[in-house]
Order: sequence, then structure tokens, then C-alpha cells
Amino acid sequence: MKKLAINGGQKIKTELFPEYVTVGQEEIKAVERVIKSGKLSRFLGVWHEDFYGGEEIRKLESEWAEYFNVKHAIAVNSATSGLYCAVGASGAGPGDEVIVSPFTMTASATAALVYNAIPVFADIEEDYFCLDPNSIEERLTERTKAIIVVDIFGQPYDAERINAIAKKHNLIVIEDAAQAPGAKYKDKFAGTLGDIGVFSLNYHKHIHCGEGSLVVTDNDELADKIRLIRNHAEAVVEAKGYSSLVNMLGFNYRMTELEAAVAREQLKKLNGLLDKRLENVEYLCNELSKIPCLKIGKVRKNCKHAFYDLPIKFDKKIAGVFRDKFVNAIASELMPFKLRENEGVAIGSGYVKPLYLEPMYQNLIAYGDKGCPFKCTMYKGELNYSKGICPVTERMHYEELFSMEFMLPSMTKNDMDDVIRAFNKVWENREELI
Ligand SMILES: *Cc1c(COP(=O)(O)O)cnc(C)c1O
Repeated sequence: MKKLAINGGQKIKTELFPEYVTVGQEEIKAVERVIKSGKLSRFLGVWHEDFYGGEEIRKLESEWAEYFNVKHAIAVNSATSGLYCAVGASGAGPGDEVIVSPFTMTASATAALVYNAIPVFADIEEDYFCLDPNSIEERLTERTKAIIVVDIFGQPYDAERINAIAKKHNLIVIEDAAQAPGAKYKDKFAGTLGDIGVFSLNYHKHIHCGEGSLVVTDNDELADKIRLIRNHAEAVVEAKGYSSLVNMLGFNYRMTELEAAVAREQLKKLNGLLDKRLENVEYLCNELSKIPCLKIGKVRKNCKHAFYDLPIKFDKKIAGVFRDKFVNAIASELMPFKLRENEGVAIGSGYVKPLYLEPMYQNLIAYGDKGCPFKCTMYKGELNYSKGICPVTERMHYEELFSMEFMLPSMTKNDMDDVIRAFNKVWENREELI
């Protein structure tokens, strides 16, 4: 008789996990207030009082800045747009290189390409999966203009070492904190550790407003540039009396009053949602770390992790089976979250493929069909997007790492006990997978 569900046995969990919804009456009231005002957005793309947007936008920006203890918070319509603004403000352009992690959501690297700068991929840390300072140092050239660090899964990057490298070489640090709202490095919030930080408010993040983002910085000059890029810079610079035209090609990255009103309510909930998430992580880690083939929950010294995902390293030598087989067997024992049935069971192998292995980098086709910006004559460096350039990233993706979302704040102890039972069942019956 087969025991494991993947082989036809009984599943551990037969009902959906409880729905994870962070919006409610407060957000309904906020949206109602905006709709009744009749002004769903107040932005004007010219130099005018309304260049800075409406009341909800301004309040969200000041509340966000206060919460995260940073001078400027600038609302935009996605973290992708926010990253584009950040690279634009850094001054990077054709001929320049931007060092970035390959183990992240695609937009972290695309942000460089949007300004015709070349993404140079450095490897990640074995334990924390963030950019490895040693690998960054190996990738530095006289063309390097910025470093895009990612607080991946909610783990703050090695701010002390990477900021020191940036300072020494006069580079801008852009921190992609999309997965790390509320995480901390010592007493400083993730997102405020570099020169510019970018948060995300998309549906899948800790808190959300549909789509949206806040870009934060303590630097007045960078803040000005980001606000210009958000809102049709080229049509504003002259009247605003702005002299540098570098990257002052503007977009419409404006957030609406509706999203800002929802985001303001969501910010009030961040603390409680994060506490619950961390409590759940602790409960799961206590039990799952007893399984010999798993390494789970490592947090950088003096840091608070935000656990957007719960990353787990898998030792196939100890398990005697491949990671993907093990993870698929766990998934078969469990069920999706209610309302997210179409996303499947919330566990997956390998996170994203190392970005440089995607077709755009392999074929050097981005703008048009002639290789721009990779083969631009202004670029004097040597591209290398070959398999093998970031061995740790590749090993994590193809062999060792998997991640799951069973720490979401809607999970009860009983739900987590089912998850723990599923892991123990698969571990104890792993011969069935060979
Ligand atoms: C979600 C995410 C983004 C993009 O966020 P959007 O708001 O959807 O544009 C960027 N970087 C990382 C690491 C993310 O997780």
C-alpha cells in the first residue's frame, strides 16, 4: 500500500487553507471617501501645485516617510516603475553598468536596461540569498554606476559591506525592498538602507492597494529627480528651473487617489500583519528544522526578516531524493489557499530562474532587433550572460532552494500542524519517492 498522496495515498489536508485578505471595511470607507470627492487623481504633468498630486497621495507620502523614518516617500504606480525612477535618478545611461542580483523578480534588472545601461549579474550569498559583497567587488569596473540590491524573501541585504563598497567607488545603491516592508538592519528599516529604496504594494505583497509603490530617499536631489521622472519630466524641467537634463525623460508613473487611500489604511495594518507572519514562521521553523534534510529560517545577524516567503534549503544527500520530488510530494499532501485556488499549493522549487538565462539576455534582444543596448558602441565592456557565471544562484535555483507561504497571517496553528505533518510524512516515507 502506498502512503504518500503523490502515489495515490490519502492527503493530509483536504480542505483549502483559510483565505488571506488584508482589505476590509477600512479600505471600503477610504475608497468611498475618494469617489465621493469626485477627484480620482489630481496630478498635472506641468509645473503647477498639482504636479505633486492630490490630498491622498500627499498624505500617504508623508505617513509613509514618517513610518519608515525617511525624508522623502514618493508614490508611484508599481515597484517596477519605482525601480525605473531610481535608475533614472542615479544618472546611469548608455555605456554604464549596473550590478544586480540575478535571483529576483525580473524588473530589478530590467530597470537598468530601460536607461540603456547594462545589467551585470553578481552572485548571491549561500545562506541569505542576497547579493554577495565579494562577488560585487569582482564585478566592479570603471563603468559601474549603481548597485541594485534586493532584500530577497524579506531578508535585508548586507548593508554594512555593500554600502562601504558603494561609498569607496562612488556608486548609488538602489534597494529593492518590495519583499521586505518592516524588515530591519539593526534599527534601520529595509528600504532606507541604501540611497534609494523601493517598496511594492501589489496584490501579492505584505500590504497592497491593487498596484502601487513608494520610493524612498533621504537625498533631496534624488527625490526631485524621481518626482520628475514620475510625471513627464521633459515638460516640467524648464518651468521648474531644473538644469540637468540627464534622464529627464518623463513617464506617467502616477498613483491614483483611490490606491493612495487604500495604501494609507494598509500601512496601519503592516505592523500587526508582520507580527503574525513572524509568529507563524517561528512555529513552523521550530518543527520543520527537526527534519534532517532541511535548513530553514536563517536570519542575518542584527536583522529582522520580513518573510515574504519562507525559504528552505534542501540537502539531497541527506534526503536521498531530489528536491523537486520531495517538494512535489509535499504539495500533493496539501491544498491551496481559499480565493487563490488557481495559484496552486503555496510551495515551489527554486524561486526564479537566474535572470541572465532568460531569452532576452541569451539573445541580446531588447530594444529593436539590432542588439540595443547590449551591443551599443558606447558600451566598452564585455558582456557575460553564460551559464555558470553565478554558481550559487544556479545551485539554489536548480537543486537546493524551495520556498513556501504557509506562514501567511491567516494560517491557524491547526493549519500549520497539517503542514508540519505533511513534511514529516514525506520525510518518513521518502523511499517511496526513489
Ligand atoms: C514584486 C516585486 C517587484 C515588482 O513589484 P510591482 O509592484 O509588481 O512592480 C520588484 N522586485 C521584487 C523583488 C518583487 O518581489
